Amino acid sequence: MIENFRILREIQSLIKKENDLLNEEMGSNSRVINIQKRIDGAISEKQSKQLEESERCIKLEQLEILLTNKIEELAQLQKSENFLSSEKQLQLWENQKKQCEESKSQIENDIFELMQVSEEEENEINELDEFIQGATKSLQEIQLEVLAENNETLQKIESLKKRITTLVEELPSLFQEKYLKAQKRNPLNCLSLVSQGKCQHCYFQLSSFNKEKVENHFELMNCQNCGRILLPSAINL
Ligand SMILES: [Zn+2]
Repeated sequence: MIENFRILREIQSLIKKENDLLNEEMGSNSRVINIQKRIDGAISEKQSKQLEESERCIKLEQLEILLTNKIEELAQLQKSENFLSSEKQLQLWENQKKQCEESKSQIENDIFELMQVSEEEENEINELDEFIQGATKSLQEIQLEVLAENNETLQKIESLKKRITTLVEELPSLFQEKYLKAQKRNPLNCLSLVSQGKCQHCYFQLSSFNKEKVENHFELMNCQNCGRILLPSAINL
């Protein structure tokens, strides 16, 4: 009878291994997902920077037209200097020239500032580009690595599953039935060892009658509290 409990425990340890392998696979996949996320983030950052840059280009073109106009205006003013015939006209002319020069230098400042921002942003776009290229290359390498790892893991999982099925089939039908039911309830951990009359999973105290049944008669029982199948402590002897 105790042999059946030993089979159960072996099944349990195989399930634990299977679960560890599944976690390993998930960890490998998340490596790929994390890099992909960072690349996607860099691409969208680059796109928004490029959009801003093209808006700056349009603005720069407009400012350059304004500047050309101002230069032309100044040249015209310069030409008209010789035709001034009164003090009042000279006053007006000087005011006009001053305004024109001020607005010209304001436009020149705006152009200079805009070009500076453009230069900084272009550097950042280049850095993003370098990151995207490098990360895409390593992503491809990691994907291949992960694919190979996962294949290996899946094969191991497959053989564990086969081994578990074989072991379950070795159990008498009562054990099979109870085991499958308990396993459905707690897929990762459906067995619990009894120690000093307690379920070692939830520490529920068995009555002395039930303790006697499990420990000495190797009867198949579920913990009344957590529902796990109770394994007699003799299994460790
Ligand atoms: Zn329990």
